Amino acid sequence: MNPMNPLPADYHTHTHLCRHAGGTPIDYARAAAERGIPEIACTDHIPFPDDPNPSIRMPREDFPSYLAMVREAQNAGFCRVLLGIEADYQRDLVGGHIQSVLDLADFDIVLGSLHTGPFWDLAPGDPAATPEFVEQMNRTYYRRMAELARTRLYDVCAHFDIVKRAGIHAPEPLLAEIVPPALDAVAEAGMAIEINTSGRDHGAAEPYPSALILSLMRERDIPITFGSDAHDPAQIGRHFETAIVLARAAGYTQRAQFRRRQITLVPF
Ligand SMILES: [Zn+2]
Ligand SMILES: [Zn+2]
Repeated sequence: MNPMNPLPADYHTHTHLCRHAGGTPIDYARAAAERGIPEIACTDHIPFPDDPNPSIRMPREDFPSYLAMVREAQNAGFCRVLLGIEADYQRDLVGGHIQSVLDLADFDIVLGSLHTGPFWDLAPGDPAATPEFVEQMNRTYYRRMAELARTRLYDVCAHFDIVKRAGIHAPEPLLAEIVPPALDAVAEAGMAIEINTSGRDHGAAEPYPSALILSLMRERDIPITFGSDAHDPAQIGRHFETAIVLARAAGYTQRAQFRRRQITLVPF
């Protein structure tokens, strides 16, 4: 890696506290330093009250350990470590819960994301994946993304088009109709959107968001971040070289940097 041109910050990582990932914040910071990444954000999933699915996120009682582990990594000196959180948007939780967790600490960055919906495991070839169903699934998803932005709770949209996760890509004319209103809501909220490179390793076989959406973002001056969504320290900065090419092709030369939830733009 050319020291004059380091890789951008990786603003999306998960530790073992999520119960579906491995590694501590220090492990991630060390791996980042080795990969030439000068800055990371720890962004474990927000605890849910009465969690119906405790196998994929930290319970509330682990939250103080999360803060302590991030602080330890901040002091370890491998690279700069931001305190972040991936605060899943769920309609029934927005009423106060997410804000109540955000009030517990001085976060640098808050990711907003959607994880629920039929898109999660509906693979191509499934008889349920009719064109009508896929259209409805995409319309609902992007309407929810606009709702997420309007809550004003978040700094960055994570994996903005994860509705394609399993490999079912909506037709471009449909996307050209339903994506712009969601992007307008994101732009109005002053949020950034990450280039999440994990999509390359999913059925989607490309980063989130697509090149088409990136160009629509650029038209609206929506800032970008880079995120590997690493669930293992070995995945830190995965496919970032590809993401940089995509971002530049869309016309981006700067990325968003966060400090205590304040955004600035820096070159990458
Ligand atoms: Zn996520
Ligand atoms: Zn994530």
